[in-house]
Amino acid sequence: MTHLTPPFTDEHEELRESIRGFIDRELAPHAQQWEDECRFPDEVFPKLAAQGLLGLKYPTELGGQGGDYLHEAVMCEEMARIGSGGTAAGIGAHINIATPPIWKFGSDEQLQRYLAPAIRGESIGALGITEPGAGSDVAGLRTSAERVDGGWVVNGEKTYITNGVRAHFIVTAVKTTREGGHHGISFLIVDRTEGVSSAKLDKLGWHASDTATIAFEDVFVPEENLLGELHEGFKLIMANFQWERLAMALGAVGAMRLAWERTAEFARERSAFGRPLSGHQVIRHRLADLAASAYSAQCVTYDALRRFVAGEDPLREVTMAKLLTQRASFELMDACLQIHGGAGYMREVWVERAARDARLGPIGGGSDEIMREILGRVLGL
Ligand SMILES: Cc1cc2nc3c(=O)[nH]c(=O)nc-3n(C[C@H](O)[C@H](O)[C@H](O)COP(=O)(O)OP(=O)(O)OC[C@H]3O[C@@H](n4cnc5c(N)ncnc54)[C@H](O)[C@@H]3O)c2cc1C
Repeated sequence: MTHLTPPFTDEHEELRESIRGFIDRELAPHAQQWEDECRFPDEVFPKLAAQGLLGLKYPTELGGQGGDYLHEAVMCEEMARIGSGGTAAGIGAHINIATPPIWKFGSDEQLQRYLAPAIRGESIGALGITEPGAGSDVAGLRTSAERVDGGWVVNGEKTYITNGVRAHFIVTAVKTTREGGHHGISFLIVDRTEGVSSAKLDKLGWHASDTATIAFEDVFVPEENLLGELHEGFKLIMANFQWERLAMALGAVGAMRLAWERTAEFARERSAFGRPLSGHQVIRHRLADLAASAYSAQCVTYDALRRFVAGEDPLREVTMAKLLTQRASFELMDACLQIHGGAGYMREVWVERAARDARLGPIGGGSDEIMREILGRVLGL
């Protein structure tokens, strides 16, 4: 299963090798421990920054690598090799959802104050949109920001926020009109100051990631922390959705490729009834189907990626890539677990975790049902 496929060039493949080396050396050996302890390792941020991996797509003036979305795409694919979806999620939330809105909508002062330290690995970001009463239906969010002298006072609650306990700053969606809705939501960059409190949540997978509720109680946010235009926060949400969903699709492509390779190797080595598992036609055919599934996930995702980097607005292709890859990844992981037999159910074997971690894909970043709703509209249904 080769991945040297357009849009990637030799330069991207060199980057891939270097990211793999770093992950294999510095991150993967600790993944089991971080997962067992249900602890996100903050120390990875400065390490990633030292390799330039927190700023691949960001400009050099801000400390980034001056690359583009294709460089970031390589990183998204390779993070599966950490072997901890939770660690990848914490890193991914920082580089793919919390910092991009600041890059695109931030003032020069906000870029210096928030994005540059985030690229240096000195501060950790989170994106706070979801609330207990508003997930898919973002327009229904209730967290409010009331105008006061010199800024706003924020009250409300967010939930399921990745990096929610440790984030130094939260790019937060708030209602800035009484009605809220499409022209009444804004974004504020909220520092972890007085009135901000978080509580960690336990969950099925992504054990190393910090998923939390965040409460805002009379939190003063200064004027200069408004991100983008007042009341036009929806534009900001929409602006990064395509990349967020592509990043998730790329993550699934990397995870599926790796899981297939490992499971095929296992099936060649493990024997039952006098021959390797892969010598049994049922298993061989299952692996053939899984290779086809992984490859088709890659094709659909790379097509969306090519269009995205060419400057098209590939809503249809990105939505299809997100929808197809997330469910396909979960199904592939479950099949790989089955091929591992009892070992697949054991904590110490990678596939047990990979299968749990993959379950989030069809829910997060816009659920399968929401992807189908978008496609229904795009397809004129
Ligand atoms: C581990 C984890 C990490 C997360 N990280 C973040 C984060 O960092 N920042 C953040 O803001 N959010 C985050 N989320 C939230 C995530 O984006 C939401 O959970 C997701 O958008 C779904 O929203 P919900 O949970 O409120 O479900 P709901 O919107 O209540 O949906 C419940 C069910 O109904 C379905 N449904 C909803 N509307 C329709 C419809 N119109 N037609 C048909 N079916 C529908 C949904 O698909 C789902 O199956 C995270 C979630 C998890 C689990």
